Amino acid sequence: MILTGARVPVETVNFHLWQPCNMKCRFCFATFRDVRRTVLPEGHLTQNDAERVVSLLADAGFLKITFAGGEPLLCPWIIDLIRLARAHGLTTALVTNGSLLSTETLRSLRGILDWVTISVDSLNSATLAMTGRVTAALPASETHYLDLCLRLKENGFRLKINTVVTTANHFEDLTEFIIAAQPERWKIFEVLPSGDRTQERWNPCWSPPTSSHDSSRGAYPWRRTACGSFLRTTRR
Ligand code: SF4
Repeated sequence: MILTGARVPVETVNFHLWQPCNMKCRFCFATFRDVRRTVLPEGHLTQNDAERVVSLLADAGFLKITFAGGEPLLCPWIIDLIRLARAHGLTTALVTNGSLLSTETLRSLRGILDWVTISVDSLNSATLAMTGRVTAALPASETHYLDLCLRLKENGFRLKINTVVTTANHFEDLTEFIIAAQPERWKIFEVLPSGDRTQERWNPCWSPPTSSHDSSRGAYPWRRTACGSFLRTTRR
C-alpha cells in the first residue's frame, strides 16, 4: 500500500489487522493465504507497525476506519489501535464474530468505538455448529445474539449486523430477530439476483452454478445461495 500524502478519493477504509480467529466458519474468506506465506507469517503486523498504518490512513484523509480480521478482538492491542484512530479524529468501527464482547471489553470500547458489526448467520444452534460459526464457550442461540445486540445498543454503540447466506441457512427467516435487535444496518452477503426481478421476490431460493469452494479452514460443502425472502426483508 502506498499513501502519497494526496487526499484519498474515498472516505472509509477497512483494516484487516488480525488473521487468527476463534471460529472456523467453512465459508471464511479471510485466510490471508497470500500474505501469510511471506509478509505476515503470524497473520498480523507488530503493534508499532499497525499503529503506523492507522496514522498513515488518518493522514491520508480517510474519515472512517473499520477494524476487521480474522477476529480483531483477539489482538491484544486492539483497544490501543481504536483509541489511536479516535485520537486522529476518525469514526471507528469493529467487525467481530461477537464471541469476545464481554462486559469489560464493552466498557473499554465505550467512547472510542462508534460502530460494532456482529455476524449473525443463523439463530439455530445446530446450523451454527455445522457451519463452524461457534466457539467452545459461545452459547450460540437466538437468546445470546439478541442479548448481545441489546447490550451493544445500551452501551451506546451503533449496531450493524452481517449475515452470510449459504445453503445451510437460506430457508431461515431472520425478520423477527432483526426487528427485535434493531440494527441501523443489516448487510446480507451473497444475495444475488435470480433473473426476472418480478419473479425473484417469490423464488424460495436460487443456487448459483458454482462448484464447491475450498477454504484453508476445510472443505466447503455448500454452495452459496440467494434467497428472495431475504431480499424482500431488506427492502422493508
Ligand atoms: S468468524 Fe468465521 S468468517 Fe469471521 S474471520 Fe472467523 S472464521 Fe472467518
